[in-house]
Amino acid sequence: NENPAAQSIQLLSPRLANQIAAGEVVERPASVLKELVENCLDAGATQIDIELEDAGVKLLKIRDNGSGIAVEDLPLALARHATSKITTLDDLEGVASLGFRGEALASISSVSRLELVTSTDESGKGWRVVAEGREMQSQVSPAPHPRGTSLTMRDLFFNTPARRKFLRTERTEFTHLEEVFRRLALSRQDVAFSLKHQGKLIHQLPAIPFDTEDQRLKYRRVAQLLGKDFIEQSLPIESVATGIQLHGWVGLPVYARAQADRQYFFVNGRVVKDKLVAHAIRQAYQDVLYGGRHAVFVLYLEVDPKIVDVNVHPTKHEVRFRDGRWVHDFIFSSLHRRLSGALIGSEKPNLEPEIA
Ligand code: ADP
Ligand code: MG
Repeated sequence: NENPAAQSIQLLSPRLANQIAAGEVVERPASVLKELVENCLDAGATQIDIELEDAGVKLLKIRDNGSGIAVEDLPLALARHATSKITTLDDLEGVASLGFRGEALASISSVSRLELVTSTDESGKGWRVVAEGREMQSQVSPAPHPRGTSLTMRDLFFNTPARRKFLRTERTEFTHLEEVFRRLALSRQDVAFSLKHQGKLIHQLPAIPFDTEDQRLKYRRVAQLLGKDFIEQSLPIESVATGIQLHGWVGLPVYARAQADRQYFFVNGRVVKDKLVAHAIRQAYQDVLYGGRHAVFVLYLEVDPKIVDVNVHPTKHEVRFRDGRWVHDFIFSSLHRRLSGALIGSEKPNLEPEIA
């Protein structure tokens, strides 16, 4: 065929279609980790254990103690556009789960060797599923497993060499992985996490009850993940209005950094990087921060899920608020009050957290 334009139209094979879709959500091992941990959290897991080899390229294994997947549902778990989390467009409005696109497992499975083993009860019996070949037909077989799910991903991008070339050094990829881990572990302090790399335990984070009044416990995970000085140089904040609340820590202006690399903002437990939020925070710091410096913060915003649209981008990092102005002003005034109060008075964070 001399003219490349004159080819007949054909449907893409399921694997090829999934590989193309994978381009949107699976950029590197860190994005695989994000999707898989979000699934564990959506399944109600209270313990999530992660093992990596070669910065997740050779092996990325995640085990959770969540709901597991019923054997009837298993053939669909690795299929594209298959989700247990929404059934109607209305469900999408106010969606509380982290996932809903039904795309992650199909995408990851199309660009790696993925195996899932799961059980919905404590019988010790479970099921294993893999999706192979051009058609990505799921194959289900019995396998032992306690209640929960283990996902093993090997050889990321083994069949898409062009994508594989874009991977950086092991060190860089691990930095990305650790950052994703940090964000997710901060997003849900009530869930226990562990992270191993090349057989070495890097992080072990016990669960912290939601409403703990124990001051040491309250600061523990943040100190473990961001360092003791973060706690010493930050002010706790708690701000409540009708239908909206903000809590967490804001760094003192003197503790600002040259890079915006210690900024964590969560909306209803979801990691969010949002222009409107960033603007509100920058404004609050405007009078107290030297130009070019970046504040550090760990902030949790809770609002009615109905006023947040999370279906803005495939990675779901961006959100859209129904009343953006109101949210912006609430964040701004909460922080502004806290920061100016701290500077006028001689208030210093007076915390002696126990550092594990
Ligand atoms: P989504 O999260 O958008 O629904 P995924 O491709 O990430 O899509 O997952 C597909 C489905 O597989 C989920 O809807 C869920 O029912 C199931 N699933 C995936 N991971 C887990 C897990 N760790 N525990 C229980 N169910 C899971
Ligand atoms: Mg998912």
